Amino acid sequence: MPDSRLLIQGGVVLSIDRAIGDLARGDVLVEDGRVAAVAPALEISDCEVIDAAGFIVMPGFVDTHRHTWQAPVRNIAADWSLFHYLWGLHTGLSRHFRPQDTYAGNLLGTLEALDAGITTMLDWSHNLATPEHADAAIEGLHDSGARAVFAHGGGAPQWGSVPGNPVAHPDDARRIRDSHFSSDDGLVTMALALRGPQFTTEEVSLQDWRLARELDLRITVHVGDGELGKTRPIEWMQRHGLLDDRTTYVHCNTLGDDELKLIADSGGTASVASIVEMQMGHGWPATGRLLDAGIRPSLSIDVCSAIGGDMFSQMRTALLAQRALDNADLEARGISLSGGERLRLNTRDVLEFATIEGARACGLDDRTGSITPGKDADLILIRTDALAMTPLNNPVGALVYNAHPGLVDTVLVRGRVVKRNGALIGQMPARARVLAEQTREHLLVAAADDAGIADARFDGGWTPRPHVHA
Ligand SMILES: [Zn+2]
Repeated sequence: MPDSRLLIQGGVVLSIDRAIGDLARGDVLVEDGRVAAVAPALEISDCEVIDAAGFIVMPGFVDTHRHTWQAPVRNIAADWSLFHYLWGLHTGLSRHFRPQDTYAGNLLGTLEALDAGITTMLDWSHNLATPEHADAAIEGLHDSGARAVFAHGGGAPQWGSVPGNPVAHPDDARRIRDSHFSSDDGLVTMALALRGPQFTTEEVSLQDWRLARELDLRITVHVGDGELGKTRPIEWMQRHGLLDDRTTYVHCNTLGDDELKLIADSGGTASVASIVEMQMGHGWPATGRLLDAGIRPSLSIDVCSAIGGDMFSQMRTALLAQRALDNADLEARGISLSGGERLRLNTRDVLEFATIEGARACGLDDRTGSITPGKDADLILIRTDALAMTPLNNPVGALVYNAHPGLVDTVLVRGRVVKRNGALIGQMPARARVLAEQTREHLLVAAADDAGIADARFDGGWTPRPHVHA
């Protein structure tokens, strides 16, 4: 007899497991944190019940790339290009983050994700100036209650003078692997977030890859972002035997089609961050080109210093960007849509990208990403009684085009209810709010004393310039 049992009863179940499919009315049984059964009707008594009538029940979303530490400087980069971002944050504000600011950012950013139904987030943590920063980042992830991958990514010494930064990945990754992640079974696991050939030297890249393999960690790396990505990074990695099925390639916008094929052949995964890519000038999202190469991508938020942190808008944007490209291509080739052709990318594709493909890109698809018996119960319930969701004709279409974080009613992580009746449970959200405000005040004061970014403002009125710190 299991210790705990919970029946989620009578919802519209989108399992994202192709063998199980969608259930117009379905029950999900959770036992000891895991999905025990999914069926149109389960005859179970003697257990806690969540009435899911009027809700969509689905797996939690997976965000495969977020620089979570930036949550307290929310939206300051709303109108920046990629280079403004590199100057303003990486050679600018990042230097003034203290460990408590990193904690505040990770706590706020991860709770924000949970609140929006993202139960798994890869924290691409690249502002770790000291071991204390890394410990604080990990503590923030743990305290949020979410499933997370802590992707250790160095800090200002590694990111301060990109491209061509000659400083190796911090050795502290070894300590963190030993002291925090001796097991890979926890709710928070570890990966390495490497700069790759675009941002560091070839010699350092090779050294960084050796470190990942020594520590037996998955890798996530930015490639193909804007001008920086036109240097054929994948071709170089292939020449050096660095491509494998434990690596996620983030962005991919300006990689060659042949490079995408190399990634596909190696079994690698991809992360598309459409909103930031179109906003900052990385190039067109690579979704369609990845599909052509044989890769079904995952989706990611990237930076909440610029944009919002939910997956509904990412699904919508990824789909629409590709539709616009496909429509433009048809028009350019003189092919009329009056022939009744269906466009190749649909709402269900992007829903899979936001769930199961994300889990795959984190190496966690045996634990999450679908409602499958045996997997952990990372589940969300979405309200469908809002006027904008009523009547519910096409649940997948409604999720992609109409839904938003305000409709996320209930969130479970490994069977534990962390959001119920539209509100996160516990004191952490209030704490995160206070700490993030303190961090913002600290950063404003520190920036005012820093010659390079003394003009920093957080109200949208600051456009960073290139500068060198003394
Ligand atoms: Zn990024």
